[in-house]
Amino acid sequence: MMRKAKRYMAAITIAAVLFLVWRAMGYPGYNYGNVPMPTDLHPSVREKADELVALAAKKGIRIQLIEGFRTAEEQDRLYAQGRTEIGQVVTYARGGESYHNYGLAVDFALTKEDGSLIWDMGHDMNGNARPDWEEVATLAKGLGFEWGGDWEQFKDYPHLQMSFGLSISDLKRGKRPPGQAVAGENETNG
Ligand SMILES: [Zn+2]
Repeated sequence: MMRKAKRYMAAITIAAVLFLVWRAMGYPGYNYGNVPMPTDLHPSVREKADELVALAAKKGIRIQLIEGFRTAEEQDRLYAQGRTEIGQVVTYARGGESYHNYGLAVDFALTKEDGSLIWDMGHDMNGNARPDWEEVATLAKGLGFEWGGDWEQFKDYPHLQMSFGLSISDLKRGKRPPGQAVAGENETNG
């Protein structure tokens, strides 16, 4: 009986240690406290996104930016949607695994005059027989964005990102593109 209890205690201790190691390695997906995270869109991404809205307007296509910077915590909440929470799955990225979490991605949507969004992929508001989504994607790529609609597995049509040659694992390890503000940098100047 005593020996059995000891073995039981040892098993629990090992499980606890393994759990702590697992947590320290960053489950779920990201260890928030370790590297300073960006707090806003990268200035170049913001500039190019604004340029995109203007370029699209010139072509007679009304778009708006519906998402930009997203904290890792917000990303985790979004990831839960359609999994542990109600709703439709909208992302395959957990906190720290999306370019949104590093201020390097924006989402756009076609927009009606009254400001409501258009999700019809074949919509052609400028009447040139080309789907507006594709026209905007072409413009975006010309500005240096990668388009989520080109992804093989999960087509993310509103999504545009700029990686600056950095992978998600680079970013998780704390690598940042030049010009990126991170948490804590502004504390001294209020
Ligand atoms: Zn996105």
